[in-house]
Amino acid sequence: MTEQHETRSTAGAAIAPTEEKLAMGWAHTARFLTTASQLNQLPAAELPEIAFVGRSNAGKSTAINALTQQKRLAFASKTPGRTQHINLFELGPRLEPDAIFADLPGYGYAAVARTAKQRWQAVMAQYLEVRRNLAGVVLLVDSRQGLTELDHNLLEFISPRVITGEVKLLALLTKADKLSRREANAALVTAQGVLGRLATETADVGVTLFSALSKLGVEDAAVALRSWVSPR
Ligand code: GDP
Repeated sequence: MTEQHETRSTAGAAIAPTEEKLAMGWAHTARFLTTASQLNQLPAAELPEIAFVGRSNAGKSTAINALTQQKRLAFASKTPGRTQHINLFELGPRLEPDAIFADLPGYGYAAVARTAKQRWQAVMAQYLEVRRNLAGVVLLVDSRQGLTELDHNLLEFISPRVITGEVKLLALLTKADKLSRREANAALVTAQGVLGRLATETADVGVTLFSALSKLGVEDAAVALRSWVSPR
């Protein structure tokens, strides 16, 4: 009886790929599209765009690389001269792309001059407020630090569009492999409490533990992002 059941489920899996497989396959198609230092340099994209934001060192590049299963994709964003840029990646079939990942500059990096920081904060705020094709935001938060004041500032920029459901939000609590189970749970509960303030009937707000190292949360995140842009 048990054996029969197993055979059936294996056969089923072979015919219909799971949501996770589809989502990971989709994320893997990501390729570099363009880089922009100002909003008016961004292509007037019609495709749904998913922005990745977070404090510098939160694990954003590593998370993008884990999601796309590419070793160096987001490290393009770390090459000198590009760290303060918005880097765009395109996803889906090459002839018929269906989504864009936008890697926004990490904020809070101490060595950046104050004027440059302010300029970037303004560009980022503007991007999050006006980018018409923005479908969702992935907020990377170091699970050991939790949401900081700078993350709260960022949430303020996007909350009007998140509350209405126009822009979805997923917070990834990164480097969860560095926490004990109890610490990880506490980090999750705290973040849920903070983000719960944005949760309205129309809002789509999620938070999950994430580790590029152990792969915890990677597939779930890919499934969520794919559902935001619902490619064919
Ligand atoms: P970014 O500045 O937000 O792009 O951060 P990075 O992706 O460069 O990561 C910052 C540091 O955290 C690097 O030393 C990474 O190796 C480390 N890191 C990122 N993700 C993980 C993770 O899931 N587990 C562990 N243990 N370290 C991580």
